[in-house]
Amino acid sequence: MQKMKYIWVDGKMVPWDQAQVHVLTHALHYGSAIFEGIRAYACADGSSAVFRLEDHCKRMLNSAKILRMNLPLTAEELVKACIETLEANELKEGYVRPLSFVGYGEMGVYPGNNPVQTIVATWPWGAYLGAEALEKGIRIKTSTFARSHVNTSMSKAKASGNYINSILAKVEAKDEGYDEAVMLDTNGYVSEATGENIFIVRDGVIKTTPWTSILGGITRDSVMKLAKDLGYVVEEQQFTRDELYIADEAFFTGTAAEITPIRELDHRQIGVGHAGPVTKHLQTEYFKIVKGENPKYASWLHHYKV
Ligand code: PMP
Repeated sequence: MQKMKYIWVDGKMVPWDQAQVHVLTHALHYGSAIFEGIRAYACADGSSAVFRLEDHCKRMLNSAKILRMNLPLTAEELVKACIETLEANELKEGYVRPLSFVGYGEMGVYPGNNPVQTIVATWPWGAYLGAEALEKGIRIKTSTFARSHVNTSMSKAKASGNYINSILAKVEAKDEGYDEAVMLDTNGYVSEATGENIFIVRDGVIKTTPWTSILGGITRDSVMKLAKDLGYVVEEQQFTRDELYIADEAFFTGTAAEITPIRELDHRQIGVGHAGPVTKHLQTEYFKIVKGENPKYASWLHHYKV
């Protein structure tokens, strides 16, 4: 990854290489951390815009609440920290990663009174699943690992420890030559991917999985609103992997993955085998929105200038 000048650490801009923690940091041992993944885009008018920054910061506070972590920050302070870090690093376009973690103190699972620390890092990041993927689509497999049961690890929290489940599925998929995995929930229904939500299109209807075993993706929410505004029928409904096999189109959504078409699942070609018309339509409109080219969604953008 490309180094930047600074990382925001508990209110101070610290030079990149000096932003370090002790090896006995609680979160390093037990996964007791929460984070966000946010993107900033360069706009045509020369400014930059962070996409749905306030919503990401609210989700981070909700993650803290679910985990009973005492975040010493408000959503507004987190917003400010993200913008300050982008400005300090003079980053016009890229990724923003706030992270709060249980720090160094006592060992043992109980986080007790260990300090909670917060950092914000930023860096340039291109298309998460490859630039070609956005156009041609990706090849995926159904994971042998189930998404955690709704009462196992609290998927509505974007918690570091939850990502062990994602890492297992991602490594398996990559080992077998796929780009990504789709995971089923413990009842066997399609859930989400390792870092993306999933949508299908069949007979003109757009479907995404319900907000049960999944992370409530901000891209998912944006795409649902956008698709409805464009006149599509959008349903949040359980579906099975064989419904996915016979979908006309399928795509992943995520801050990092943006809108990535799925061209093949478990050796079955999905639809035409590349981005279908609905996926392309949503992708085009999504990129206009994030780059400030659609005034209707101006409230989703937090502008800054570097
Ligand atoms: N599910 C998981 C497990 C994720 O890690 C992500 C990425 N944050 C998403 C879905 C998509 O969420 P968002 O659109 O808010 O990035």
